[in-house]
Amino acid sequence: MTLNKNFNNLKQSYLFVEIAKRVEAYKAANPDADVIRLGIGDVTRPLTPAVIDALHKASAEMGTPDGFRGYSPDSAGYPWLREAIADYYAQSGVKINAGEVQVNDGAKSDLGNFFDILGEVKVLVPDPVYPAYVDTNIMFGNPIFYVAGNEANGFLPMPSGVGSTRLDVIYICSPNNPTGAVYSKEQLAEWVDYALDNNALILFDAAYAEFISEPSLPKSIFEIDGARKCAVEFGTFSKMAGFTGTRCGWVIIPDELEYGGAKLGKMWYRRQSVKFNGVPYIIQRAAEAVMSAQGLKEARELIAYYRENAKTITSALDKAGIKYTGGKNSPYVWLKCGRPSWDYFDYLLTEKNIVGTPGAGFGVNGEGWFRLTAFGTHGNTIKAAERLVSQ
Ligand code: PLP
Repeated sequence: MTLNKNFNNLKQSYLFVEIAKRVEAYKAANPDADVIRLGIGDVTRPLTPAVIDALHKASAEMGTPDGFRGYSPDSAGYPWLREAIADYYAQSGVKINAGEVQVNDGAKSDLGNFFDILGEVKVLVPDPVYPAYVDTNIMFGNPIFYVAGNEANGFLPMPSGVGSTRLDVIYICSPNNPTGAVYSKEQLAEWVDYALDNNALILFDAAYAEFISEPSLPKSIFEIDGARKCAVEFGTFSKMAGFTGTRCGWVIIPDELEYGGAKLGKMWYRRQSVKFNGVPYIIQRAAEAVMSAQGLKEARELIAYYRENAKTITSALDKAGIKYTGGKNSPYVWLKCGRPSWDYFDYLLTEKNIVGTPGAGFGVNGEGWFRLTAFGTHGNTIKAAERLVSQ
């Protein structure tokens, strides 16, 4: 038997292991230190009442002969959830039909799984970015090309930064993890034009769309003309409604999206029906509750909580004269540390008792930068902000 040799090309998942190691060592040597973690990418606030009600109700149904549900009748999700997601898009003026929505267990799996329906493709990844895009393509053995996000382009790489190689798949993450940078409609339109001109496919990761606070900024690639012919969008309840441990998301594949005469939506549906038995009924009911008027109100209150943390952090950075991007339309604040990011990590840990994430962990262009997140409690974030400005 042979194994997938591409796995030999994966780098050790060094970032969070190394962070944990350094924090543990510091705490062992300084047991009284009040170390505050502003490095976490996970949410911390509990599920909201609308979601909990739906979970209780659906659990009770499952205990009755009439309410019990077994295998989901459709791997793409129950029609009421697909419709609720389509309605959610309609509220921001984006027309999606429910049949174009395929429900899944969160964005991460399918941002990678999607390559099951593609052949060997050349993939463009912005750098810095969420590391899973790179690793999943290493596993598939796909050639990976990078486009640099940096201070000069506000961490929003554009097609003009792409070399001459013809690429097949383009990842776009907006708002970006880790930089918090968000593309404008005009900038996304450039990417859509580029994809259409080059017969490329955009995989648009909208995991943080609900954090966008400026109304002029696009939450969905489908706000852009032409995107229905070249883009797939991945959404998730993880960060918008605290579902990181509850697991539910969706993929939107427009009906007209096709390559080489094949409809991608149909191919993906076929793939899912072979490899995926759907999201649990109870969880789909909880997700439906998020999309209700009350559920969205509560989700947005959660986001407002985190947004206040982001403001606390950025106000401190303003006071300290430290340059940053993000924070306004994103739970991530990306600050310029002006030195190797692991050195800054050690400095923050030992001098300020704050844990963040070194930018180098997100790509070569992340070096010299550092990520703080807004997912902590108000109390801890305020304390950490005070430490950031203190001498
Ligand atoms: N996409 C980005 C950019 C993320 O930062 C994350 C998680 O941190 C995910 C996707 C994963 O989301 P999910 O929990 O829906 O799998």
